[in-house]
Amino acid sequence: MTPLKKANYLSLPDSRDIDHYLFTLAEHSDRARMVHIGTSAGGRPVHALLMSSSPAFMRHYRPEPGKATVLVLAAQHGNEPAGAEAVQQLAQELTLGRHEALLKRLNLVLVAMANPDGRDLSRRHNANDENTNIDYVALNAGETRLLVNTLQRFDPDLVYDAHESGIWKRVLTREQGWLTDVEVQFEVGNNPNIDARLQDYTAGFLLPALISKVSEAGVRAEAYRGEITQLGQRVARGGLGITNLRNYAAMQGRVSVLVESRLDNKSGSYATPRNIAERVRKQHLALLSLLQLAATDSRRLMAVSRQARAQWQSAGADRSLSMDVHFARNHAEPEVRLPLVRLSSGERRYHEFVNYNAIVAGEQVLLPPAYAITRERERMARWLERHHIRFMTLRAPQDVRAERILIEALQPQPRIKPGVREKWRVQARTEAGELRLGPGDILVPMDQPLGPLAAMMLDPRSANALYQEAGWRWLKPGPFPVFPVNPGKARYSTSQDSGDLVTAAP
Ligand SMILES: [Zn+2]
Repeated sequence: MTPLKKANYLSLPDSRDIDHYLFTLAEHSDRARMVHIGTSAGGRPVHALLMSSSPAFMRHYRPEPGKATVLVLAAQHGNEPAGAEAVQQLAQELTLGRHEALLKRLNLVLVAMANPDGRDLSRRHNANDENTNIDYVALNAGETRLLVNTLQRFDPDLVYDAHESGIWKRVLTREQGWLTDVEVQFEVGNNPNIDARLQDYTAGFLLPALISKVSEAGVRAEAYRGEITQLGQRVARGGLGITNLRNYAAMQGRVSVLVESRLDNKSGSYATPRNIAERVRKQHLALLSLLQLAATDSRRLMAVSRQARAQWQSAGADRSLSMDVHFARNHAEPEVRLPLVRLSSGERRYHEFVNYNAIVAGEQVLLPPAYAITRERERMARWLERHHIRFMTLRAPQDVRAERILIEALQPQPRIKPGVREKWRVQARTEAGELRLGPGDILVPMDQPLGPLAAMMLDPRSANALYQEAGWRWLKPGPFPVFPVNPGKARYSTSQDSGDLVTAAP
């Protein structure tokens, strides 16, 4: 029995109880193994439970030709515990030999608690009050970095991020008297710069298949509409930015799915405290349904995902990126009806919301051969290493063809612009010419699997640029210190070999 069931659902296990339980499962099964993947800000260990019928995977962790690797992350938010409980339950069932078909087609990496500090301190964030969920560009929190390392280490084809959403909202509930009436919502990587074939597969097949599978099992599932905080607001989808794991992983060429299940209202009366048994049941159904779909369709899922990692293909012409992405009014479906429940009476009614789920992909920029970095180079080198992005540090001056980016104006982003965390919109023009880079300057070649992701974070014109993050306020009018260059063919062919850091002699 999982610790939660053993406690008769009356108290949540802490991170040590959960670790202890998973270690015990692993000790008694040759298909399970616990791997230490890092330590939280508060000094708590973070583990992944590997589940596989393949001894080679248990030893080397590497992707296998006949099996999709799936990374499941639960409880990045400490106050959303049901996902971690569902992972423990599934792990137990698998060690007992249930769901036999799954381990024939899948190698599982289960991180039951991505944020053990949050679990033990009953809070959303880690012990340093960092929100790892929006940290995937800056990589400030140790937990985010260890999850990025985990992506690199296991190279999953499918990434699943499990959350719960509270339905009690200050304006919608307290002032207007309504609660949203959703059970389980799913979103997938939706940034328009994700590999085009991967997007087609995920949005066109996997998401609708998952929604119908869970609905058929009796739990109403829908596509995620973002947070509903008041009547009369616009609704869109999950955010388009790459600061979250869903889009970050998808930009790396992985099929990526988010679940948000209902975190019931404190004031309701339920069979178990805060309805935890029912919440775990929904999370378990969502997770199991996804894994069953992934196992059944593993061949196609692997092909699409591995192809995206080997050779990114943009949705637009050539290899181009949309720098300014946001949501806009969907003119084909201008309104959307969502079910709400009146807090006082339990009356259920549909309400109309303005539908803002059309994705606008603005200015297209051709992916250059490389980006040059000429400011705070040591700090930037550390940041690139954290992302596992390959780069070269020049030892001697080098002449390159450059496309300098000249920032002409900065506009504070209106709060109304949904879907992006962009704080400043950059107005810029480019100026092509020869330029001499100096010793210590950094070249980041785009001819690498993480090239498109790197460009979205490095290019100041991007809505997802690093410089939108606190601590990286580089944006100001004038020539920008990071810009596209063409260093000539020989220059970046050397970057393919060994580690993350390659120093090129002139
Ligand atoms: Zn969450």
